[in-house]
Amino acid sequence: MKLSRQFTVFGSAIFCVVIFSLYLMLDRGHLDYPRSPRREGSFPQGQLSMLQEKIDHLEHLLAENNEIISNIRDSVINLSESVEDGLKSSQGNFSQGAGSPLLSSKQLSLTDNPADCLFASQSGSQNSDVQMLDVYNLIPFDNPDGGVWKQGFDITYQSNEWDTKPLQVFVVPHSHNDPGWLETFDEYFRERTQYIFNNMVVKLKEDARRKFIWSEISYLSKWWDTIDIQKKDAVKSLLENGQLEIVTGGWVMPDEAAAHYFALIDQLIEGHQWLEKNLGVKPRSGWAIDPFGHSPTMAYLLKCAGFSHMLIQRVHYAVKKHFALQKTLEFFWRQNWDLGSVTDIFCHMMPFYSYDVPHTCGPDPKICCQFDFKRLSGGRFGCPWGVPPEKINIRNVESRARILLDQYRKKSKLFRTTVLLAPLGDDFRYSESTEWDLQFRNYQLLFDYMNSQPQYNVKIQFGTLSDYFDALDKEDTTNRKNSRSMFPVLSGDFFTYADRDDHYWSGYFTSRPFYKRMDRILESHLRAAEIIYYFALKQAQKYKINAFLSSSDFTTLTEARRNLGLFQHHDAITGTAKDLVVVDYGTRLFNSFMNLKKIIGRSALLLILKDKHAYDSPSFDTLLEMDLQQKSQASLQYKTIIKLSEEPSCLDSETLEPTLTSTFSYSLSFINWGVFWTLLTSEERGIILHYLM
Ligand SMILES: [Zn+2]
Repeated sequence: MKLSRQFTVFGSAIFCVVIFSLYLMLDRGHLDYPRSPRREGSFPQGQLSMLQEKIDHLEHLLAENNEIISNIRDSVINLSESVEDGLKSSQGNFSQGAGSPLLSSKQLSLTDNPADCLFASQSGSQNSDVQMLDVYNLIPFDNPDGGVWKQGFDITYQSNEWDTKPLQVFVVPHSHNDPGWLETFDEYFRERTQYIFNNMVVKLKEDARRKFIWSEISYLSKWWDTIDIQKKDAVKSLLENGQLEIVTGGWVMPDEAAAHYFALIDQLIEGHQWLEKNLGVKPRSGWAIDPFGHSPTMAYLLKCAGFSHMLIQRVHYAVKKHFALQKTLEFFWRQNWDLGSVTDIFCHMMPFYSYDVPHTCGPDPKICCQFDFKRLSGGRFGCPWGVPPEKINIRNVESRARILLDQYRKKSKLFRTTVLLAPLGDDFRYSESTEWDLQFRNYQLLFDYMNSQPQYNVKIQFGTLSDYFDALDKEDTTNRKNSRSMFPVLSGDFFTYADRDDHYWSGYFTSRPFYKRMDRILESHLRAAEIIYYFALKQAQKYKINAFLSSSDFTTLTEARRNLGLFQHHDAITGTAKDLVVVDYGTRLFNSFMNLKKIIGRSALLLILKDKHAYDSPSFDTLLEMDLQQKSQASLQYKTIIKLSEEPSCLDSETLEPTLTSTFSYSLSFINWGVFWTLLTSEERGIILHYLM
């Protein structure tokens, strides 16, 4: 419409010009013949014929101008219609993904590729069996009392349901270790986590049937640095024989809402590189039991990292119930924008309230709690439902096995296969050797009994997460119809999380904004430092600049990456940790921020030095400074103000490279108040700060 109006104005202007020209010509004709007193019938014949000729000529010119104006008007109308058609056509292309633009590329700022916008009309619910935006419309959110499974429903089954195909149960021992929450990362390690690892290598070795999974590499690497070669070998052999599995293998189990995807990837790479370097293993199954809601971005990142399966836990209780009813707790998670299936990753959603033992063996926490043998009477804590566990022995094993199997069978009714996952763990579990004995011995007695009873139709064992997924894959492959999987495809996300009633976990999206901002600042500095350090390192290697090569900058960079990674933990960037723990995170972020600035400064200095060997000189140590300053972990950041004189300030061209290499280019920006500064570079004079008024 704007273009059409321009043509109209243009045409009108030409019309006015033509009329004005005509007027001038008529006027000129009049002037060419001086006015004489009007005496009708007194003109000489010669003058009259000349006048007649002039009039004829003018009439001819007028006809020509009329024709020109008519042509201009037609052109304007045609162009207007073309523009309108073009707009309609390009709108049509957006929704249909077909056609070509009417106007030339010169007249359009964008040329449209038919494939560009295809996903917009076809992605989402059309390409998946379950679309979360639709699910939220289906759920009543009425929160009725579901009985023993408070947020669910009564589960029933027929005892002969497993006659033809036994129930296959994988009990997966795990320990959830927050890298900081009520205590700091170091405190937890010192008081709890190191003992879990120490006991793990001993207790798993005692019986090859025992299994264990671990996810937080921040803790594993810290322990690794303290242990001897025997323990390291023991860990490697446990991984090799499949008793120990590293799940996810990120530096932490990150939050999936407040964290930026850059940091999510970075902490995953840091964990995976540590694993590859020290243990030679590559995780293949994801394990996220405590982040407060789950993002499809995390699923996508895991898929891109080579994972085929993943597990999530903290999902709105009403969604869990809905999925349990539909048997969609296991699904292929597909990105909304994926028109094929390349982003599919298999996902298991835990059905109940928590990842602790009372909420993982089946729907009734009062029963399941009795099978958390750390809570045996005499221990430090019991079961809140009032019935403590019983130690398994020859007299009670039959009754206890039946009670536990009933829970497993009920839980399996929420899924599409006869393969069942039963996690066995909680926060900082398995730190004492007695707990390993209690859990593994009592469960092994139950397993041995159940497996020996053909009428139970159950095959139960300890397993790792991938043991479970492998068995599930096998069953899916066997039961495929027309090569179609047993499991649905889902698209969407699992925010906002509520664990009970109307307790929505949304405050953490914005709480402690100071540290959330600091996280982003550190991210940008880390990336900048990594890039410039790399280029400087290449120069240092080329010119053998020992002062640079022998510095601890690489270690400091790694520390910064790990501190940023630690802050992605689901109690760190979320702000859910205790104040003293937050200060610990803040101090780590602050220290790394300061260190990164130094690395950037030193790297930049080496790059711009004409004589690289001058880098050794201590006088250059503080030559380059970053603009962002911060005095302590809790203080506000501020910008450095550079004071420049009216005289141009020139850095010595003998010292600095005027241009680095032909592949480098630089841009600088200045914040100023009313005066203008510019940065000039010159082959002869080096870098000049020039003052312009
Ligand atoms: Zn946690």
